[in-house]
Amino acid sequence: MYRFSRSIYREIAPKVIEDENDPTACRNKQLVLDACEGTIRRLTIDGRYFARPARTLFNDVRTYFAMGDQLAVWRAIELNIQLAQEFLARLPEGAGLDGIPRQCRAHTRKGTPCQREPLPGRDYCPSHKHLEESTTETVETAFEELGRESVRELTAA
Ligand SMILES: [Zn+2]
Repeated sequence: MYRFSRSIYREIAPKVIEDENDPTACRNKQLVLDACEGTIRRLTIDGRYFARPARTLFNDVRTYFAMGDQLAVWRAIELNIQLAQEFLARLPEGAGLDGIPRQCRAHTRKGTPCQREPLPGRDYCPSHKHLEESTTETVETAFEELGRESVRELTAA
């Protein structure tokens, strides 16, 4: 999927204006690359709720380009975002970005891989979604385990 952000970046990177006071002389290029990748990532995860991705990306990066380059930058972004959207639209329902149906990354209690389809934009199915790492969920799991501990203590007593 990142071939779309890379091809936007390849086209527009040579036109990026670097800050004269930036000793690395590539900070703005890095910001542009991050913006391209962020847009493609968001398009992949929740494209249906991402209104006007090309416009959003262009607004994020346009300040790093000269007035005379704005149109060329806009065209590179618009074209590649359109290609990315067409690519996503052609994928079968529930398929991964490589066209292979996605599978939950968890294992069942028997130790075999879970065959269920993951939630959109997630690596795990609804019954294993607690395995997805995130601060809130880790905290919730910790609480659950605490609860279980005290139950065990109570039953042992
Ligand atoms: Zn699962």
